[in-house]
Amino acid sequence: MSVINFEFRNEVLKHNASLSYCYQCSTCSGGCPVALLTEGGYNPRKIIEEAILGLQDKLVQKQDPNPWLCSTCQTCVELCPQKVEITEILTLIKNECFNIGNVPEAFISQGKAVLENGVALPYSKAILTRREKLGLPSIKTAPIDEVKKILQETKFENHIPKE
Ligand code: SF4
Ligand code: SF4
Repeated sequence: MSVINFEFRNEVLKHNASLSYCYQCSTCSGGCPVALLTEGGYNPRKIIEEAILGLQDKLVQKQDPNPWLCSTCQTCVELCPQKVEITEILTLIKNECFNIGNVPEAFISQGKAVLENGVALPYSKAILTRREKLGLPSIKTAPIDEVKKILQETKFENHIPKE
C-alpha cells in the first residue's frame, strides 16, 4: 500500500505551485507520445496525481510510472488547460530519483560524455572529417569547465561506476 508523504507533497508544491491546479482531466496523457507508444504504461496524469497525493514511494522508489521515459517534448505542457508545468514537476521527481541512485545507466553515460567531451553524443573522427570536407561549420561544444562545476554541485561523479 502506498503511503502519503505530506513533506514530499509540500516540497513539490514549493518547487512548482502549478501542481495544485491539476483537475485530472487526462489531456496531458491523451497527447503524450510516450503514453501512446507504451499503451498507457507511461502516464503523465498519473505522475501528477501521485505528486498531488504525496506518494513519494511510488514516484521515487518504485518509479511507477517511470519519469525517465518522458522525452521532454512539452506537448503536455502546451495542451494542459490548467497550465500545469508538468515537465518542471518531472524534473524535481527525477532529481529525487537521482539522489537515491535510481537513474538509468544511459543517462549516466550521457552525463559522462558531456563531462568529458562537452557533448552528449560525441562525433567520430570520420564524421568530423566529412563535415570539414563538406564545408560545414565546426561543432560547438559546451564549456567543459563550467559543466564540471555544475556536475560537482549535483554530486554527479558519485554516480559514475568505477572502471
Ligand atoms: S492536462 Fe493538466 S489538468 Fe489535465 S490531468 Fe494533465 S496536468 Fe492535470
Ligand atoms: S513532455 Fe513528457 S510527459 Fe509531456 S507529452 Fe512529452 S513525453 Fe509526455
